[in-house]
Amino acid sequence: MHKVARKNRKRIIITALASVAVLLLLASTYRLACGIGLKKAYSKNGITIYADGVGHKEEAKQMTETLRVQLSEVDSEYSPNISVYLCRTMAEFHIKAIAIGKPLALSRTGLKATFFRPCDWAKNSIEPRKTELLSRSLSSVLLHEALHHYEREKLGAVRFFIKMRTENWKIEGFCEYHSTSSSFPIDKGLRIFSGEDNYDFVTSNEIKPEYFYFVSRLRTDYLLNFKKVNENDYWSTKYDEDQLDDEIRQALKEKRYAFTVQ
Ligand SMILES: [Zn+2]
Repeated sequence: MHKVARKNRKRIIITALASVAVLLLLASTYRLACGIGLKKAYSKNGITIYADGVGHKEEAKQMTETLRVQLSEVDSEYSPNISVYLCRTMAEFHIKAIAIGKPLALSRTGLKATFFRPCDWAKNSIEPRKTELLSRSLSSVLLHEALHHYEREKLGAVRFFIKMRTENWKIEGFCEYHSTSSSFPIDKGLRIFSGEDNYDFVTSNEIKPEYFYFVSRLRTDYLLNFKKVNENDYWSTKYDEDQLDDEIRQALKEKRYAFTVQ
């Protein structure tokens, strides 16, 4: 009996070790594949930027340094370890990021990688997906994405994963709250949120994800900025979303709370 149990235990350990080795191999192969066609434009203090060809070193340096400062303003003790891939075509973006839909950027936090769709990074801007939306600065989207890596590290992989599925508004709201531009026209968003404008604007223009980001940011701003909720409490409190939205609507209506984005 003992012999069988020991044999089984050995087999389980060997299988687990082999699985870890295979996963590590797949992850490193994937990381290598992400760099295909791109060159390392700049790398410092845990942030590496991959872009096409040469001549982007100065912009990459600027981007890296700005991001470092912005991240340290969120948490001075955070040491990032992120690779940023500025893809040259939408096809490259979809394949490398394994992206579904057409987001502006996408992070694979388990692989410490962030991917960007093609954009004009000399102008520091990304065109919006739809004309109804605002164009965003590349650096604010980069900060949003870098903060997903931060969230994963701060919350731990399991908690981060669970929150992505159960309280995704916090995961996105926290990144949007710290980023410096809005995905959605603010006045319009507030009118829809308050019921003064019709939600049909969102559905008919297929801009649901951006409106979701807007509301997520609004909730996070209300809690962290206006109510001065402690960040740990923000993550651990299970808010009733309808109740929270009603509370925000009331505060907006009574002009006790004003939502602004710098
Ligand atoms: Zn995000």
